[in-house]
Amino acid sequence: MPKGGRCPICKKPMVDAVAPFCSTHCKNVDLNRWLSGLYVIPGESVPVEEEGEDFSEDI
Ligand SMILES: [Zn+2]
Repeated sequence: MPKGGRCPICKKPMVDAVAPFCSTHCKNVDLNRWLSGLYVIPGESVPVEEEGEDFSEDI
């Protein structure tokens, strides 16, 4: 059982049912942040489309 977890939104003790958040409200807040693009994940592999352009240089 996880213990000592804190809600990343409001820092209240997390509730297992909505872990790692303290309530569905904070869970939705976090989800909205993701959807809004406010979260940037360093190291996340992103497809580099520029590599495809190398083929066009053969012309
Ligand atoms: Zn919270």
